[in-house]
Amino acid sequence: MISVSTIKSYMFCPLKLYFQTNIDEESNEDYLTSKTLKDLRIDIQDLFNKNLRYVKKDMEIDEIEKRLSIGIHNQIKATFDIIEEINEKNKNNNHEKRNKEEKPNKNYKNNEKNLNKINKLKNNDKIEFIDSDKTSNIPKTNQINEIREIRERNEINEVNERNEIREIRERNEINEVNERNEVREKNTALESLVDEHRKIEELKKELINEINLNLKILSLKIAEAMKILDKDGDEIHGLFFPSCMYNYLIRDIGLDLIGLIDKIEVEKGNYFPISLKPSNPPIKGVWDGDLMETIANALLIEQEFNTYVTIGYVDYLKIAERRPVIIDTDARKGFFKVLTHINKIIEEGEIPNVKTSLKKCENCEYKELCEKN
Ligand code: SF4
Repeated sequence: MISVSTIKSYMFCPLKLYFQTNIDEESNEDYLTSKTLKDLRIDIQDLFNKNLRYVKKDMEIDEIEKRLSIGIHNQIKATFDIIEEINEKNKNNNHEKRNKEEKPNKNYKNNEKNLNKINKLKNNDKIEFIDSDKTSNIPKTNQINEIREIRERNEINEVNERNEIREIRERNEINEVNERNEVREKNTALESLVDEHRKIEELKKELINEINLNLKILSLKIAEAMKILDKDGDEIHGLFFPSCMYNYLIRDIGLDLIGLIDKIEVEKGNYFPISLKPSNPPIKGVWDGDLMETIANALLIEQEFNTYVTIGYVDYLKIAERRPVIIDTDARKGFFKVLTHINKIIEEGEIPNVKTSLKKCENCEYKELCEKN
């Protein structure tokens, strides 16, 4: 069964989908972070909706903004605590995995012991030397033989010592290299921790900007609507927040497709698939991946609710803009063509031909692996 996220990967780059399905080890971290952020956006919409019921027509715009933003700060804080936790967990898992894979020689503490051993060997008192006093009373041939034997023993001992000293030195060198590697590893881990933290802070800043923009636009629209209709917030909230379902999972055996739809708005019996996107929109229309996602969601809704969907939307939250997607015959045909090619990549392992794009490749996690890059 093909998932809608698979279609999005294909639309980003068919070769990326090939890598994902044929080579990749799963990376859960990015998925969990983006899912947590998506959930936050949905929670913020819910808060706006709830808070709107307490907005009165005689309120000034500042007051409306303040009223609408109640609870948002806490929600953002709780979400980023979760993201930090995900990162922490992931870091620990990676560390454990690395330890298991490498099992480095951690015999560093032996250094001192080894040096002592070398010194001891250098002053070895077990080596036998010719002692003229002892040999004076022994017959000459015996003495000569004994001297020879002692010499031989001494030579063997010396060779053994030299070998042992060399071995100890080599061990010490290995230990020093391991120590240096460990220090380097620790520094890299620290750098990546700082990097990770900076990334999360940037993400948070971006998200707060996005929410502020949405809040200001919504407040202005609400103030205007209350003025024109002469009604309070609880009487007009349906205008801004129609009945909807969030994170709706649909699996359809006939289409061989599964998708988690960000939002389905329902108005007068009509269903509208809505994709929520944190990215900027293109100059015109929607991005190709968002187009295919919306068509796929429309088809899933048609099967699930036995209805006909003619239009869907993509909400580009960064600039608070909704762009329509027309679900006509051409859109449907184009979608099934894409689906056929995806099947070939997944089922038959076909390597797709792609045109590279500097911008895409730069952001692609497979750029090291990909020969096209
Ligand atoms: S590096 Fe470029 S061509 Fe290769 S898979 Fe990624 S996006 Fe596609």
